[in-house]
Amino acid sequence: MTTLADASALQVTDGRAVSFLAGHHGLSIDGRHDVPAVSGESLAVIDPGTGAEIARIAAGDEQDVDKAVRAARSSFADGRWRRSSPFEKQRVLLRIADLIDERSETFAQLETVDSGKPLATSRREVATAAERFRYYAGWTSKIYGDVNPGSADTLTYALREPIGVCGLITPWNYPLLMAITKLAPALTCGNSSVLKPAEQTSLTALLLAEVLSEAGVPDGVVNVVTGTGVAAGAPLVEHPEVDKIAFTGSTEVGRQIQVSAADTMKRVSLELGGKNAHVIFDDADLEPAIAAAASGIWMNSGQACAAGSRLLVQRDVLDEVLAGVVEATSAIRIGPGLDPSSTFGPLISAAQLERVEGYAMLGQEEGARTVLGGHRCNRPGYFFEPTILADTTDTMRVAQEEIFGPVLCVLAFDTEDDALRIANGTRYGLSAGVWSGDLARGHRMARELQVGKVWLNSYGTADMTVSFGGVKDSGHGREMGRYSLDLYTEIKSVVTHIGS
Ligand code: NAP
Ligand code: MG
Repeated sequence: MTTLADASALQVTDGRAVSFLAGHHGLSIDGRHDVPAVSGESLAVIDPGTGAEIARIAAGDEQDVDKAVRAARSSFADGRWRRSSPFEKQRVLLRIADLIDERSETFAQLETVDSGKPLATSRREVATAAERFRYYAGWTSKIYGDVNPGSADTLTYALREPIGVCGLITPWNYPLLMAITKLAPALTCGNSSVLKPAEQTSLTALLLAEVLSEAGVPDGVVNVVTGTGVAAGAPLVEHPEVDKIAFTGSTEVGRQIQVSAADTMKRVSLELGGKNAHVIFDDADLEPAIAAAASGIWMNSGQACAAGSRLLVQRDVLDEVLAGVVEATSAIRIGPGLDPSSTFGPLISAAQLERVEGYAMLGQEEGARTVLGGHRCNRPGYFFEPTILADTTDTMRVAQEEIFGPVLCVLAFDTEDDALRIANGTRYGLSAGVWSGDLARGHRMARELQVGKVWLNSYGTADMTVSFGGVKDSGHGREMGRYSLDLYTEIKSVVTHIGS
């Protein structure tokens, strides 16, 4: 594990990204991208690699949310997007993808200074973002309703219609990707939207809003209100003219959203936290399993809802797996995202750094053994060492609570039943991984695991054709793939009496 140079020596080099950072960032409402917050207030944008302020964004509140929702509502009412033909929608979505590709370096550099991700990671995510638009572009002409079986004198069919105005609330760990995972299907199905990105990482959402206009998304169909969760997110959830909320974030906030959406009877889909079990049996091919155990937790510096943060290893291969993960971790290069050799960036904020440090200390107090890391890095920015806690047991808080940072809890098990009991023994139910040479066992486990996604002999891939989402405290609703279309459409039955 190497620690790289200070980020203050590094610069954003992309000309468009430089001018974007220097520019004024308003809200994006009704096709205008420079709308100041009614209050006139703004928020600092911090580079987590240095802790320095790099820009300011508008601090939207309920007045701005109201303006954005009204713009979205009137665009929906007059049908300027919803009534456009499937092929017109497809053309626009494909153009968005092309524009993202054309500006990929701008998006990537902004994402890196805003979120701390290594530049290579940001570049991959931007490429994936474009592909997500291409994927959903294909669906615009394939949203079928059913003709119902019924009596001979009646013809009944189901229309799949857009829901209306969607409020989209996203977290800071995959800023552009999370926004697009919601916006692309919302647009595909003909909805209008108001996006509230995380206050820590709003830059790429603002750039995306400009790209959407340029690609031909009509004014008002997608609006972006930056601001805090309390000032801008909560009013969006409460607004009577919003028909649906799609939220990705913490279980705590998701729970509040579900409660407060009840008053206006909104539909809600929630992608929440995870404490994912990554299970390695002694008959597994250990080399790829060990590599996946390491990458499954260190991805995005552990700030991933699907991080394999509980490593369950069958006791007779425990030492070998643990040594392997430590060895794989030694290849990590910790540093600011703009340094091309960095593979492991900072945490998002000082608050997140405190939280993760607190859990690393708690693990020690609870009796876990720190075999690697455990400390913040002695450098500017919010860096924390990759940390491995061995001898963890399933009742410890570090094994139950989502840390959302680079802390791997390693637990031993003896039998398949044990593995299943420990894996299912948390309030979360997002995803899990299973490594075994016995495919029958893999599929048996897959059926019994209480999660929304299982990787067998693999871990952490995010193919956009594959649905993603959780059960239990990890939320409900499935994003990505075709099931996402269910989240953004309503079914209307049309019953015609045709006589006999
Ligand atoms: P968070 O605090 O729940 O915030 C998520 C979003 O909700 C942010 O935009 C936030 O605003 C906003 N928000 C906060 N309070 C709100 C309220 N009362 N009403 C409406 N909106 C509100 O989560 P986070 O700390 O950003 O992200 C980390 C969490 O997200 C983790 O638990 C992680 O597991 C989860 N996550 C889940 C998935 C998944 O697909 N299942 C993916 C990624 C992350 P501000 O932050 O701007 O104030
Ligand atoms: Mg930031």
